[in-house]
Amino acid sequence: MKSASGKRASNSARSLVIIGGGSAAFSAALKAAEIGAHATIINDGLPMGGTCVNVGCVPSKALIRAAEVLHRAQRPPPFAGIATSGRLLDFKAVIEQNRALVKELRQAKYADVIGDNPNITFIKGRGRFVDAKTVEVDGMKIRGDALLIATGARPRVPTIAGLDKVNYLTNETAFELDALPESLLVIGGRYIALECAQMFARMGSKVTVLQRSERVLPDETPDLTEAITGYLREEGLEIVTGVKLLHVTQEAEQVVVETRVSGAPQTFRAQRILVATGRAYNTENLGLENVGVQTNPDGSAKVSETLETSAAGIYAAGDVLGENMFVYTAAYEGALAVENAFNGANRKRDYAALPWVIFTDPQVAGVGLDEKQAAMQGIETDVAMLPLSHVPRSLAARDTRGFIKLIRNRATDQLVGARILAAEGSELLMEIALAIKFGITVRELTSCFHPYLTLGEGIKLAALAFSKDIGKLSCCAA
Ligand SMILES: Cc1cc2nc3c(=O)[nH]c(=O)nc-3n(C[C@H](O)[C@H](O)[C@H](O)COP(=O)(O)OP(=O)(O)OC[C@H]3O[C@@H](n4cnc5c(N)ncnc54)[C@H](O)[C@@H]3O)c2cc1C
Repeated sequence: MKSASGKRASNSARSLVIIGGGSAAFSAALKAAEIGAHATIINDGLPMGGTCVNVGCVPSKALIRAAEVLHRAQRPPPFAGIATSGRLLDFKAVIEQNRALVKELRQAKYADVIGDNPNITFIKGRGRFVDAKTVEVDGMKIRGDALLIATGARPRVPTIAGLDKVNYLTNETAFELDALPESLLVIGGRYIALECAQMFARMGSKVTVLQRSERVLPDETPDLTEAITGYLREEGLEIVTGVKLLHVTQEAEQVVVETRVSGAPQTFRAQRILVATGRAYNTENLGLENVGVQTNPDGSAKVSETLETSAAGIYAAGDVLGENMFVYTAAYEGALAVENAFNGANRKRDYAALPWVIFTDPQVAGVGLDEKQAAMQGIETDVAMLPLSHVPRSLAARDTRGFIKLIRNRATDQLVGARILAAEGSELLMEIALAIKFGITVRELTSCFHPYLTLGEGIKLAALAFSKDIGKLSCCAA
């Protein structure tokens, strides 16, 4: 077989054909090559590397950091005797630098990684199943011993009258703007919406978030969502909840959105509108009907615990599954699917102690169950809630926004989950993830040294808070 890049496939006995070319696909291809099989990646739509490197993790997090630098310079923590100032000189230059980083990482982490690997072929084109062993791309039929659907997801655009007539932004266009919008309406209240909203607000846009539910991050407990809402409002973002969107129109230089907020009519205007209302799964036009692959009612690919679809020998991985949509889970699933397809591993996917982060500032970070989820599973829990005003590191940094919340199984003293709201709070997650995964008890956790003054010390203090009044402890006393 001759590839689009001119490479010749090896004569491996086993072959894998992957539709999609993002993180799940690359991880699967590398695993296949590692075990001596040949993988063909067929990608179209987004450039090589898919969502994360091109229009997701990388451009968003780099811009969030740039906006944070500006914000800290303009509104530094209150250290006496120090004055700073910052201003946005050239938004286009910020975007151009971001674009260069995306290009660099796409090359280094995707193109170069498959490079001249004779066991991986990359084809640019749209893949479609012909039968249970064959995928067609641009009239070329490619046979595989196993097939993998790794087509990911795209922005889900809600049906709102008039929206299709305005030039709305999504994560595929918002990080590529030439000019900073003077004002921005953000539709949605989950992680992509909040990260983008704060980033644009810190760059200097007047941002209004319009969220349908009564709370942003509605799947989290109210303490967390109320706190992050408060911090965002303190920075000047307008956050409106309970919004029913009725109609969108373009009037001269402004987008006008007619809504009902808690039943009362209200109109919002801004220069641009950003739609961040979830993800739609790329399962259309794949010829799934030709091979008997079933989808869930929301369009995501239906798979077993071993990631096999309803068609034997056809697997699916990554965002197209519609669950745990992170780049590290996509990569995990891609590799697992290959092990199950070729090594007969029959290993079940396991998301126990899965950490996740929302890159607002303060960050929202979680792992395992919250107290509500634990109760739904019939686990009796205790909750320790430690405001950061008790953490020496936060006091020294003069940034005590947020808290650390630990949830333990009352019967076993083992942690079942944590929720953290803290600047750089995501850096605290892995200690708890390990504790959950390996059954470390709260008592054992508190017996470990935690250096003074680190944010990590907050984990020990939160663990101590299960049994002690933290306000009455001396420095580092356990
Ligand atoms: C704004 C944003 C920020 C994010 N930030 C983070 C973060 O900080 N950390 C994190 O862990 N995750 C983050 N994510 C999620 C992460 O990007 C995704 O979970 C991950 O990229 C999914 O990888 P995937 O391989 O499943 O799909 P994708 O990367 O979407 O790849 C699928 C590829 O298949 C192509 N394709 C679709 N149909 C076909 C077809 N028929 N033929 C050929 N090709 C096709 C698509 O165009 C695409 O190139 C973010 C996502 C977004 C949108």
